Amino acid sequence: MAELTPMMKQYFEIKEKCRDYILFYRLGDFYEMFFDDAILVSRELELTLTGRDCGQEERAPMCGVPYHASESYIGRLVRKGYKVAICEQVEDPKTTKGLVKRDIVRMVTPGTVIEASMLDERRNNFLCCLFTEGAAGGVCFADISTGEVYATSTTTAGELLSEVGRFLPSETLLGGDAVTDTSLQGFLKERVDSIFSPLDAQAFDAEQAYALVETHFGAQAIEANGLGENGIVVRVLGGLLHYLEETQKASLGGLNTLNVYQQGQYMELDLTARRNLELCETMRTKEKKGSLLWVIDRTKTAMGSRMIRQWLEKPLLNPLHIRKRQQAIGALCDDPVLHSNLTDELDQLFDIERLIGRVVYGTANCRDLRAMQTSLERLPLIKQLLSELDKIPLVHELNERIDPLTDICELIGSAIVDEPPVSVREGGLIRPGFRPEVDDLRGLASGGKGKIAEIEQREREATGIKGLKIGYNRVFGYYLEVTKTNLDAVPEHYIRKQTLANCERYITEELKQLEGQVLGAQERLTALEYELFCEVREHVAAQVHRIQRTAHALSNIDVLAALSDLAANEHYVCPEVDFSGRIDIKDGRHPVVEKMLRGGLFIPNDTLLDQDDNRVAVITGPNMAGKSTYMRQVALITILAQMGSFVPAASARIGIVDRIFTRVGASDDLASGQSTFMVEMSEVADILRGATRNSLLILDEIGRGTSTYDGMSIARAVVEYVADKKRIGARALFATHYHELTALEDLVDGIKNYNIAVKKRGDNITFLRKIVRGGADDSYGIEVAGLAGVPNPVIKRAKRILADLESNTPKVEVHAVADSEPAQVSLMDLGTNAVADRLRSMQIETMTPIEAMTALYELKQML
Ligand code: ADP
Repeated sequence: MAELTPMMKQYFEIKEKCRDYILFYRLGDFYEMFFDDAILVSRELELTLTGRDCGQEERAPMCGVPYHASESYIGRLVRKGYKVAICEQVEDPKTTKGLVKRDIVRMVTPGTVIEASMLDERRNNFLCCLFTEGAAGGVCFADISTGEVYATSTTTAGELLSEVGRFLPSETLLGGDAVTDTSLQGFLKERVDSIFSPLDAQAFDAEQAYALVETHFGAQAIEANGLGENGIVVRVLGGLLHYLEETQKASLGGLNTLNVYQQGQYMELDLTARRNLELCETMRTKEKKGSLLWVIDRTKTAMGSRMIRQWLEKPLLNPLHIRKRQQAIGALCDDPVLHSNLTDELDQLFDIERLIGRVVYGTANCRDLRAMQTSLERLPLIKQLLSELDKIPLVHELNERIDPLTDICELIGSAIVDEPPVSVREGGLIRPGFRPEVDDLRGLASGGKGKIAEIEQREREATGIKGLKIGYNRVFGYYLEVTKTNLDAVPEHYIRKQTLANCERYITEELKQLEGQVLGAQERLTALEYELFCEVREHVAAQVHRIQRTAHALSNIDVLAALSDLAANEHYVCPEVDFSGRIDIKDGRHPVVEKMLRGGLFIPNDTLLDQDDNRVAVITGPNMAGKSTYMRQVALITILAQMGSFVPAASARIGIVDRIFTRVGASDDLASGQSTFMVEMSEVADILRGATRNSLLILDEIGRGTSTYDGMSIARAVVEYVADKKRIGARALFATHYHELTALEDLVDGIKNYNIAVKKRGDNITFLRKIVRGGADDSYGIEVAGLAGVPNPVIKRAKRILADLESNTPKVEVHAVADSEPAQVSLMDLGTNAVADRLRSMQIETMTPIEAMTALYELKQML
């Protein structure tokens, strides 16, 4: 085997240190990738694959990207879930002989990006570290672009998954049993869309972790967060810090707001419920538009937008805390002038939180500092506006946390010019008057330039060459240029430097000397400006705590202002929140459907659930009547109420709900290969295991994925179990197409029947969208099929089949299909009205024409 070239040897040594990373190896003005990395990247980014001699017989596959454009390429790879290691030349190639030393300077992974271009400014980007030992777990989440860290311990697998589902990290580090837990890993991959990797067991070593946490967050934070007793939380935090130190290779100073919370501090919502209720994105398109967040996010700043998402993801359980938020929102609603002045100011703020992140990591440029400064300039006025609401405790507390930061604002303002360039290495950054040295050098440089202009004038006169001019280029510096026609007049002491097609270029001693002065001054000026800029940046970085605290308070103010905007303009009311165990809503509306329908077309409905006679509402009514809209509306109003917001209703009383469970429609787990029915039943199992008396259950069409009798039996057993005070006794909304279940009202304590009214005239039905007491008398499945455009012959035929089935005729006349399978006829004989069942269960409103055709075909086959 031939020897590898020295450069390739170096490459392999470095690659060995970062095997799961794509190595960006710096070669001059490019980052090059080799071998498998090159093949992968050329495919993913559609780059040309070339080859490079590596000393072996075959050339090494290679592809590259220019270093100045690397950010966008790295961003694309990271968004696709890859991890990138950046290897730089760590010596100056000009001053070294032979191979330049190179080393990894940073690893960029989905959970550790800080570049604005790679982040969505309106949402946090969390890196998660979790550790499990049997059922017990510890988990923490860090957003290194904003400096937030959250950590908690969990006692069941379900709790752990709920937490991961709440933060939706983009990257997860695993320790303990989690390393081999395939079901957890499946959840991360399929449901959360997080990449994951095991971390060295050493990283979770209790002692080492404790030491890391202590040096990083300080002994005081350990005490304040009760971490001494909470070993598992310390271990995950230790794992997280260990990984960040490895990958960032720079200061982690920005990461310092540690929040350790307990289970039971926030309403628990697992990922299924979050997705089903479309809190932050819709189920089908995964877009914000159409979600609850889309309706309520009226924040003015990126920080506020991230914060309102957090509020929505963490509804509170303590009525006192909820009331504090309500009071602040109410006060802002009551003073529209103040509200509008305040939002005008908030509108001017840049993303201070992420700006300070970049300042701390040393990647902020002058424009970032200016953005910070123009934002900070607003603080005194914002504080003054807020002081008008000093009597409102939450506003007062937040205002106290806003530091006017005038020192930092003044420093940046006096140091940095108004419109600095993007590059910080080419001068033009520092404001005149900030440092005498800068002004002197500028004088020298521009003085030299003035003298050069004088020489031009003088030489023209002396030589009589009118067209003589002085020019500059990087290679030759300053020169005198004379056109060929005037060459005779060039004096002796001119030194020829360059010949062009129609002119000659010269220098003189004097010009060279001046050039030295100008360029020297320029060079020193650029270096000094960069140095001063770094000084200012470090000075600002040192104030990270004050700035983060202020940014955090501002983002909360922004959320309060947004929610009061929502309340005032969408006619929301302040709900009464307590421990009454009741949910009593008058004229409640679905916040999103109402927005989609516009123009007051939405029909409001009442709700009454309590922990006595009205625990479970069994809701019947045809498809499309509005059952699922109604049930979701109750859940969304409850969530809004517990996050402190006002709610879309005429009045509402919400007894605190500890957890909302949903079992709604087709699940998005189908991809994982389980049958719909299996998924449905395992969700039901989770609900029955996890629900308490204080939970709210939204159950839509349980038992639909199996035969009628099976399904109905399961549905009934579930309702009985949920309603039973000795078992669960939770508040529940239960939509079903099994009319038989309405009999339960008389048999089981706490169950009440409701239906969504429809008006039938002849073959036509009109949806009234009103919920009323009592069971529906008909499911109108066939009428709805007609409304949806199923052709008339099919509708007519379905009616006949239904009539036959209802009259319990043992045999149904076989229509048109002469060779129908005997087994299917005998099914009918058994009285399991399979066709009607199928028709009833069809989600016609979501079918594509092809699906409708296929369904029709299948129906026909069943006859
Ligand atoms: P179901 O669950 O009974 O099949 P949905 O809840 O899906 O019915 O409602 C069907 C459609 O009816 C919704 O898409 C919505 O546009 C409309 N709708 C539901 N409730 C209302 C209401 N209260 N007011 C106006 N339109 C409504």
